[in-house]
Order: sequence, then C-alpha cells, then structure tokens
Amino acid sequence: MNQVKKATTAVRKGIEADKHHGAVVPPLYLSTTYSFADFDKKRAYDYGRSGNPTRDILAETLAELEGGEKGIITATGMAAVHLITQLLNVNDTLVIPHDCYGGSYRLFTSLEKRGLLKLKVLNLTLEASFDEIIKIQPKIIWIETPSNPLLRLTDISKVVETAGKCGALVAADNTFLSPALQNPLGLGVDIVVHSTTKYINGHSDVVGGAVIAKTSELGAELAWWANNIGITGAPFDSYLTLRGIRTLNVRIKQHEQNAFAVAQYLEQSPYVEQVYYPGLESHPQHELAKKQQRGFGGMVSFDIKGNINDTAKFLTSVEQFTLAESLGGVESLICHPATMTHAGMDPQARLEAGVGDTLIRISVGIEDVQDLINDLERTFEKTKPGQGVTYSSAEVQKNKNDESLDNANVNCLTPAHAATW
Ligand SMILES: *Cc1c(COP(=O)(O)O)cnc(C)c1O
Repeated sequence: MNQVKKATTAVRKGIEADKHHGAVVPPLYLSTTYSFADFDKKRAYDYGRSGNPTRDILAETLAELEGGEKGIITATGMAAVHLITQLLNVNDTLVIPHDCYGGSYRLFTSLEKRGLLKLKVLNLTLEASFDEIIKIQPKIIWIETPSNPLLRLTDISKVVETAGKCGALVAADNTFLSPALQNPLGLGVDIVVHSTTKYINGHSDVVGGAVIAKTSELGAELAWWANNIGITGAPFDSYLTLRGIRTLNVRIKQHEQNAFAVAQYLEQSPYVEQVYYPGLESHPQHELAKKQQRGFGGMVSFDIKGNINDTAKFLTSVEQFTLAESLGGVESLICHPATMTHAGMDPQARLEAGVGDTLIRISVGIEDVQDLINDLERTFEKTKPGQGVTYSSAEVQKNKNDESLDNANVNCLTPAHAATW
C-alpha cells in the first residue's frame, strides 16, 4: 500500500476491512467468544478480553498514528497508566515529574506507599534533575508534556538522552496534544500513553485509554499484562473512539486556533495575572514547543487577579464554558484545578507544582471563538476580579454565610474530593 499521511490514516484505517458485506465502516463485534475452527484449531480470536476485532482496528490506528509497533487499548486512561507499572519490580525506581496528572500522581504514590515500587518525584524543568536521574538509575522515567494544568514542557530529547545514559525506559503521557500534534516515539521515547477520553475520542462520551509501544517485544509484554490483569477496553467504546479519531485532525486544528485566540485575549486583559499557553511568546518554553510539537494544543490556563472568592465568582458566572473536569471534547470546559482535578494532591505538593487558588484551566472547544471571547469579556466586566468589586448587599450576605468560598482551599483537600477524578 502507498505510504499516506497521518490525517489519511486517521480517516481510513479499517475502512473497507469488512470481507462479508463490504461495509465501509468496520463492523462492531460484540461477541465475547469465538468458535474454534476445528479440534485444537483456534482462529484469530478466541475470547474478548484477549482480543477483539473492533478494538484491534483502534489499536492499529493509534499505533500507526504514534509511529509504534503495537497498540493496546485499555478501559480507561488510568488503566493505561497502571499498565506501565507492571514493568516494574519492587526494587525498581520510577521517576515522575512533580506536576504530572493528579490521578497518575495518586496512583504512583499509593503504589509506593505499599512498597510495590520505588518512586522519585522530580522537577524535570531543572537541570539538576537530570544529574539526579543518572545517580538513581531508574527503570522507567515517566514524562507528561505539556503538563497539567500549567502547560509546562519537558524536553523530550533531553530525557531520552539521559535515559540512554542509565538504561532507563521512557514513557510519555501524550494526552494533552494527541498524536496529531506530538509523537514522542519519533523522539526516542519507548512507550506512549493516552487517555483517549480526551482529544482522541473528543466528544466527552467515552472513558478509555491506550498504550503504544515502540518495539513489538515491549508491546507483546504490555499486551500480555493487559490481558492478564483484565484491563482491555470494551468493543463499543473502541467503536466510538475510532469514530472520534476520524475527525481528530480537523478538531485539533480548530481547538488550537480557538485556544490561541483565547490565550491572546486573556494576555491583554487587566483582570488576568498570568497566562500559560505554549503558543504565546511569553511562555518560557515557547521555543521548545516549536521544536518538539507540531502545534500548541487547545488547553489554556491562567491566574486570575484577586483571591479565591474572585475565582469562584468568575467560574460560576461564565456561560459558554461548563464548570467541569476533563478536557479535549468539542465543548469548552472550565475548571479550578485546586478544588477539582488536583484536589487529591497534598497541599504542599500542590503549591510546589504551582497550582494556586486563583489558577483557572480552560479546555477550549471548537465553538465560534468570538462567542467564547465575548463571554469571557462579559464575565470579567461583571465580576471585576481583583478590583475589590462592591457586590449587591444580597451577594455580600451570601458570601458571608458561605464559608466554603473563603475556605475552599482547605476544604478542597479532603479525600472525599480526591475520589472524584
Ligand atoms: C484524564 C487523564 C488521564 C487519566 O485518564 P482517564 O481516562 O480519566 O482514566 C491520564 N493522564 C492525563 C494527562 C489525563 O488528562
């Protein structure tokens, strides 16, 4: 077959694969079990946990988009993250960045507490961390770039070079950019992990994950573990996720175009303290973003002026952005990492990661961008963050009674919140 571009692979992989009826879209196989062709003669598939034709098309598509030899589809993104830890023995060390996804941080630290692995948390934007890695001799270095929620970048080539000096594997969580904008395997990484829940499915209606291995040996080992511990994805979820991938390329372009405009708007707003978006020249790693990414993505974070009260008021006054966790869907979402996505981190670790009470994260959707900007403008003008706005007396009374607003930074750190992501 002719070599085609990634956008074509995303649209066409598995199209016309149906041998029976010529269905253009690959069929959804729900059967959990498959007949043997004869005594002791297994067909390509025997049991749904181990293999499924619909799931395999999704796995092959993602492997091709990331440039890997083998893809494994898991039930959730966290299952994909967990799968990587199956490569570790109890004395092996895993290096993770201090600002990785809250759920991954929780999983890794919980496994460490039970003595199932050794963990070293490092700030991978610091030079000293690389010397430290060589001293520690980890088995796996985990990276996530850009990071959540501050959109900090990790220099992938530098991590790969360091890993080469100490024989470590590098695993990259590529959820924030998707294979449309960044391919870590091409930069020497060994394993890519995705929460397909986000941009890959793109419609906020499937929770899923994927692991893509650079080599077939590593892929086979991970696939063996995925079947062994029973975390492979459901056929119907795979079917929907594959449908999402068909439009990944056009969606990502619109997400990025809108995010860029929103970031530029926020940067000039008098109500904003600081904007975090790798596409802005003010981003300290803008040059690195241009080097290792093919785009800047659809996530924008910013610190609003004022305090947590201003932040809460702003978040509950926007209309075109839904106050919700998650990201990567066609609709715009807005979230408060300190009380939502990062509530499970202990307060000290959260502050060290730079996630303060006035930080707001937006997953910019593909709506008309002027509608989004108009809504932000209207909300700033209405709530006037950081300008000691005089609320109506009814509102002042409500805020006085509502201690949760003033204490949200304390309340948010209870385990009850932590259980939600
Ligand atoms: C959402 C997310 C995960 C976890 O994926 P789930 O599908 O929610 O289990 C892991 N890493 C990143 C960067 C994420 O955004």
